[in-house]
Amino acid sequence: MPRIAYVNGRYVRHADAVVHVEDRGYQLADGVYEVCEIAKGFIVDEKGHLDRLGRSLSELRMAWPLERQALELIMREVIRRNHVHNGMVYLQVTRGVSPRDHAFPTKPVRPALVVTAKRMDPRAAAKKADKGMAVITVPENRWERVDIKTIGLLPNVLARQAAVDAGAQEAWFVDPDGTVKEGASTNAWIVTNDGSLVTRPADFGILRGITRATVLKVAAELGLKVEERRFSVEEAQTAREAFVTSATSLVTPVVSIDGKAVANGHPGSIARSLREAFFAIAEKSPTC
Ligand code: PMP
Repeated sequence: MPRIAYVNGRYVRHADAVVHVEDRGYQLADGVYEVCEIAKGFIVDEKGHLDRLGRSLSELRMAWPLERQALELIMREVIRRNHVHNGMVYLQVTRGVSPRDHAFPTKPVRPALVVTAKRMDPRAAAKKADKGMAVITVPENRWERVDIKTIGLLPNVLARQAAVDAGAQEAWFVDPDGTVKEGASTNAWIVTNDGSLVTRPADFGILRGITRATVLKVAAELGLKVEERRFSVEEAQTAREAFVTSATSLVTPVVSIDGKAVANGHPGSIARSLREAFFAIAEKSPTC
């Protein structure tokens, strides 16, 4: 069964899914994207992801490629055609195809839309969560609007590769004041020694993670105290637990930071309970 992608109005074989060489996403990273988790036949937190897509588009003065409801239908069709019960759906919108020029196209162009979906084995993610991940830290070198989910991900790519080169799985961006921003593709959290969850406030300095928002709800449900404040690398290294959140990794424990074990170097129990309670609390919309 071949994989199918949606590209600008057509469902095509994934292997043949291509965009124009003058797509502004391809040449200028002039576009935005979203990734939603699909779990047990449901799209997780779809509304939050599409609301954030709308915000990213509007911050960049881009239009929706088509009506939101039509986009929801296309997502479902791509999920259906790829038989995804567990996995992810990816949406990318760019400003469109136009002769290369930094300024916006003067002639109106239609934003370009790509939607893909992929099956993923939830047991692999569970295995990773059981093992926990190693994190390194890297200096923050991104622009000031990382709250916009743009496809311009070069610093994130280099940070993640630095992690891989160091035998780790994620890199945390650190501000000049020594505080942790977020991971290359995850939000960062710690659990203090008295059991409070700490995560950086979602202002302009981090992506306003949809999973982060749901984990805040899960924490409230579990009666956990939460502090939205900055924390330093050192505080994280000496914390009771650390973990990351994202649509595809959900809640994944961090067991070391820059080679220093967090607590006993094994996943902590609070991260585990947040992960276990996540699906029950998250918003779930059927894929068909
Ligand atoms: N920060 C960054 C930089 C990311 O790329 C992601 C993943 N999209 C996240 C945080 C987590 O966001 P979400 O929970 O919405 O997947």
